[in-house]
Amino acid sequence: VENNFSDEESFKFFGLGGCNEVGRSCHIIEYKNKVIMLDAGMHPALSGHASFPYFDEYDISKVDILLISHFHVDHSASLPYIMQQSNFRGKVFMTHATKAIYRWLMQDFVRVTSIGNSRGEGGKMNEEGSNLYTDEDIMKSFDRIETIDYHSTMEIDGIRFTAYHAGHVLGACMYFIEIGGLKVLFTGDYSREENRHLHAAEVPPLKPDILISESTFGTGTLEPRAELERKLTTHIHATLTKGGRVLLPVFALGNAQELLLILDEYWEKNEDLQNVNVYYASNLAKKCMAVYETYTGIMNDKIRLSSTSGKKSNPFDFKFIKSIKDLSKFQDLGPSVVVATPGMLQAGVSRQLLEKWAPETKNLVILTGYSVEGTMAKELLKEPTMIQSATNPDLSIPRRIGIEEISFAAHVDFQQNSEFIDKVSPSKIILVHGDSVPMGRLKSALLSKYASRKGTDQEIKVYNPKNCEELKIGFKGLKVAK
Ligand SMILES: [Zn+2]
Repeated sequence: VENNFSDEESFKFFGLGGCNEVGRSCHIIEYKNKVIMLDAGMHPALSGHASFPYFDEYDISKVDILLISHFHVDHSASLPYIMQQSNFRGKVFMTHATKAIYRWLMQDFVRVTSIGNSRGEGGKMNEEGSNLYTDEDIMKSFDRIETIDYHSTMEIDGIRFTAYHAGHVLGACMYFIEIGGLKVLFTGDYSREENRHLHAAEVPPLKPDILISESTFGTGTLEPRAELERKLTTHIHATLTKGGRVLLPVFALGNAQELLLILDEYWEKNEDLQNVNVYYASNLAKKCMAVYETYTGIMNDKIRLSSTSGKKSNPFDFKFIKSIKDLSKFQDLGPSVVVATPGMLQAGVSRQLLEKWAPETKNLVILTGYSVEGTMAKELLKEPTMIQSATNPDLSIPRRIGIEEISFAAHVDFQQNSEFIDKVSPSKIILVHGDSVPMGRLKSALLSKYASRKGTDQEIKVYNPKNCEELKIGFKGLKVAK
């Protein structure tokens, strides 16, 4: 029967999270009774069990292999839960750098969020927010995570997969997966522009049948990097000159290191700024820097050359940037720049500084990452006149601080995504990791771009499934002799 495929023959995609949304990425793919889970994240704007993917909607014990694309919380933070507290029995893979960073990041995540602690008042344990997982879960799960090198292929029980550079952040990879002759490429989060330290995402040598792609920026266009850098340094310089303070909220790692490289270089060139302090305030500042120093070997030529050419032996040993763990060592006297975590100002150091600096017109907060719906970062973009204190819900603070959004989020824009899709040349595209509106626009733009192929055997199909909505795609002619 031509168009009727048995269940075993059809490819199945089932999103447990990160479908028509950004956050809690977790997708299941099934083919010929093999089951792969792609990523296991949390939603940064939600708390407790609600921030997890919909694990109850799928029998996780069926999963053979779980592949983690990168260390960002929305792609990796439910891993300790899956490995230690669910009936998941599969193998877990990530790159070496992702694993090294994941360890510190998760421990910090447990400390600063509600994950391991009570959210209830007066120290009373709140059932919902408490003990999703513990420090012990992280350490026990850590030992069982296996690593994969870039460009190396693993084969486990008939599933082959290879990791390729994805850009985005240190250690991020795309997975090219082959099951029973069917080829699938999962991009994770990716960027096609080389920055100061990372490779751009690569086009794998083989063509996949199915591409599972992020769609964060939809049909949006990003400004050229040189222009973004110029804007960033101009805003910072002008704010400091008039005596203001600059807050740069960032994820602990990734974006932060790129911004620090930009700032250190700018300070070197501008003597008038050299008496103004730049701080990198993160619990993880020191540990993360050590990881970055260790992994210069997988970074791009720009950084590798600078790390071996005599003058500066370590590119992350900054001349003008001081790392501090928290605000106890920070004296808030006069102009300064603070690069602080977390990136979406949910709590912690960046939120404390925002609340302190918000009432002053001459101060400036610059958002350089992607701001998820429901977080303070997203709220600020609406330029509210008052903001809520994170620690005291009864306290409102006037917001006069300037707000700028200059995106260094390292995701592809429409042109880059579309060029990449052309090069990869899949026949089916499944869009994930994007809010409904930008994702819907991306789908329409791709369909109209390939409209002339409709009805031919070159037709390209584009899907944008919702969470927990099963997508079945039949494939013929993929018979592989056993
Ligand atoms: Zn990411």
